[in-house]
Amino acid sequence: MSTLDTLGRPLRSLRLSVTDRCNLRCHYCMPEDEYVWLPREDVLTFEETVRLADLCGEMGVDRVRLTGGEPLLRRDLCSLVAQLASRPWLTDLALTTNAVLLADAAAELKTAGLGRVTVSLDTVRRDRFVKLARIDALPQVLAGIDAVRRVGFEDLKIDSVITRGDNDDELGDLLEYGRSVGAEVRFIEYMDVGGATHWRPESVFSRAEMLEQLSARYGPISQLPSPPAAPADRFSLPDGLAFGIIASTTQPFCRTCDRARLTADGVLLLCLYAQHGTDLRRPLRAGASRETLLNLLQAVWKGRADRGAEERRSVRDRSSYIPLRVLKRDAHLEMHTRGG
Ligand code: SAM
Ligand code: SF4
Ligand code: SF4
Repeated sequence: MSTLDTLGRPLRSLRLSVTDRCNLRCHYCMPEDEYVWLPREDVLTFEETVRLADLCGEMGVDRVRLTGGEPLLRRDLCSLVAQLASRPWLTDLALTTNAVLLADAAAELKTAGLGRVTVSLDTVRRDRFVKLARIDALPQVLAGIDAVRRVGFEDLKIDSVITRGDNDDELGDLLEYGRSVGAEVRFIEYMDVGGATHWRPESVFSRAEMLEQLSARYGPISQLPSPPAAPADRFSLPDGLAFGIIASTTQPFCRTCDRARLTADGVLLLCLYAQHGTDLRRPLRAGASRETLLNLLQAVWKGRADRGAEERRSVRDRSSYIPLRVLKRDAHLEMHTRGG
C-alpha cells in the first residue's frame, strides 16, 4: 500500500531537477539580472540522485521527469538517463527542456533510454523569442525539436506559457506549429511561483480566454477525457487536432496532485509553492541507511497538506508571491531551482 498524505494523495511522480543553471532568461521565470546559485559542492552526484530516486520508487513513484534550470546543461546527463531507465520501478522517464541544446543531444538521450520529451516554447517568432527569453536561440530550439522527431521520440509535447500582451495572440500559430511537427501543444497559465517577480493578476491569460480565442479561429472546441492526476485538460479542435490547457492559476488541480520535487542539491519539495523543503543530502552524505531515509520520506509525505495554487487563488490583492529580497536569500524558492 502506498503512503498517502493528509488529503489522501499518493506519491507517484518525481520531478528531478539536475541543475539550477539555465541558458535562457524567460521573463516569467528568470527576469532578474543576477541570481544566487546553489553551491557546486552541494549538487548531488548521479549516484546520490539515483539512490534518492530509488527510495521514491519504493514509496510508489513510477514516473520521473528530468528538469532544471536547463537539464541539458548538466554534463553527461545521458549517464543519469541510462541509470534511471534501468530501474524496474520506473514506467515513464521524461525530460522537460528549453531545447536550445537538444539537437546535439537527442540521439544519445534516445539510446540512453529516455522515454519522452517536452519542449518549452512560448513563441515561434524570432524577435519575440529574444524579447521573452533574452537570448536569440529560436533556430536552435526548432532544430532541437526536429532532431527529437528524427531520432524517433513519440509523444512529443510543447508547453507554452501564455502571458497577456506578450504571446496571447499566438495560440493558433503555436498549435499550427505543433501540428507541423507532430507535437501536442499545451498552454500553461502564468503562475505566481517563486521567481515570477513580474507576476500580476492582469498578466494571466486564463483557460477561459484561451478557449474563447481558439474557438473564434477554429470553431467549436470539444473536451477530451484526460487521466485522473494529469495537470492538463485536453481538448480537440473541430478538425480533430488535440491540445491541452494547464490552468494552474485559475483552476488548480491540487486535490489530485501526486508530485514531489527534488532539487539538484537534494532538497525534497512537496509543492511548487512550498516555502520549506526537507534536506535529504545531509543525511545521505552522513551515511544514513536506506531504512532511515525511507522512514524520513514516508513521514514527510504522510504529513503533506500542500494545496499551494488553491491557497494562492483565494488571496486578495495578489501580486508576486515571494519578494525579490527573500528570493535572494534562498535559491530554493526559485522556480528554476525547483524545476516546475
Ligand atoms: N528549463 C526547462 C524548460 O524551460 O523547459 C525546464 C525547467 S522550467 C522551470 C519548467 C517549466 O516551468 C517550463 O515549461 C516553464 O515554462 C515553466 N514555468 C516557469 N516559470 C513559470 C511561471 N511563472 N508560470 C508558469 N510556468 C512556468
Ligand atoms: Fe526559461 Fe526553463 Fe530557464 Fe526558467 S528554467 S528561464 S523556464 S528555460
Ligand atoms: Fe501540487 Fe502544489 Fe501544484 Fe497544487 S500547487 S498542484 S499541491 S505542486
